[in-house]
Amino acid sequence: MNLFIDHVKVMVKGGNGGKGCLSFRREKYVPRGGPDGGDGGNGGDVIFVADVNLQTLLDFRYRHEFKADRGQHGKGSDKTGRAGKDLIVRVPVGTVVNDLVADKQIADLLVAGQEVVIARGGLGGRGNARFTTPTQKAPRIFEEGREGEEKNLLLELKLIADVGLVGFPNAGKSTLLSRVSAARPKIADYPFTTLKPNLGLVKVADQYQFVMADIPGLIEGAHSGRGLGHQFLNHIQRTRVLVVLISCESEDILADLRVLQSELEAFSPELALKPQIVAISKMDLSPDDLDIRALKNELGDTSLFEISSVSGKGMPELLQKVVHLLKKDQE
Ligand code: GDP
Ligand code: MG
Repeated sequence: MNLFIDHVKVMVKGGNGGKGCLSFRREKYVPRGGPDGGDGGNGGDVIFVADVNLQTLLDFRYRHEFKADRGQHGKGSDKTGRAGKDLIVRVPVGTVVNDLVADKQIADLLVAGQEVVIARGGLGGRGNARFTTPTQKAPRIFEEGREGEEKNLLLELKLIADVGLVGFPNAGKSTLLSRVSAARPKIADYPFTTLKPNLGLVKVADQYQFVMADIPGLIEGAHSGRGLGHQFLNHIQRTRVLVVLISCESEDILADLRVLQSELEAFSPELALKPQIVAISKMDLSPDDLDIRALKNELGDTSLFEISSVSGKGMPELLQKVVHLLKKDQE
């Protein structure tokens, strides 16, 4: 499953407009007929459509150019050229389209079925029939069709990570992710930030899978904007469940949790409201005086798990809970 090819460059071009026609009517007994050159047809547009059946940008690796049909030229007898067919390009839901030359985002295809015209076809040129005036009865003027828009694009697929791992540095996020991941996709460098989320595909008992992201730097001063672009925030906003990881070696687990929570809120109030699971990590190193029951009392409804990426303790339970919350969220 190549969920993670998350950006690709492509070129799109709307079809050129057809040429207007230069023509004069020819009829019996009419030596010099009036102008009857038809207009050129408009070029086709390149239209992106968000398609739920696509999960990746993989197809775009093999095809980089997308050109819509040109409009037909105008013809005599006032015949307008046929318009070029639009080119429909299917992209996964969550694709963001950036114009590389204008250096800005031009579309965000978030909703299944959403359509956006990405490159307009050129207008057809006018035929000479359109240039007739009272003084100019036999104009020899016609227009070329306009060029279709051409754009160089960067398509990005927002990483739909279902689960985000949050914690201080050294809490064991990366280790947990590698322990539970069935696949560790390589993500290309992120264009808008120096950070890249570390993703893993987690398979639970062969029937359910989700994407988990270790989000480096989220807590490490990230909300103050250091090195983090909006794009990055957008990506992780879409996680549906957060696993908050705190090492059992922490001096004060509750205090750490509170700091993390307020950092999260400062970073993104929306993110802070997602369903959370708290996991106490590195339980193989658990100090004797760790009072889990007191912690559980303090946390109330929030689920608490004791895990170790070294011994595997607590992993199945944690993953089951994640799956449970994801399924609940889907309903
Ligand atoms: P991150 O900064 O949150 O990504 O933390 P890392 O996954 O890099 O782990 C930080 C350190 O803790 C590393 O030296 C890991 O080997 C160690 N570590 C992580 N998980 C465990 C665990 O379950 N038990 C033990 N004993 N060490 C762990
Ligand atoms: Mg790490």
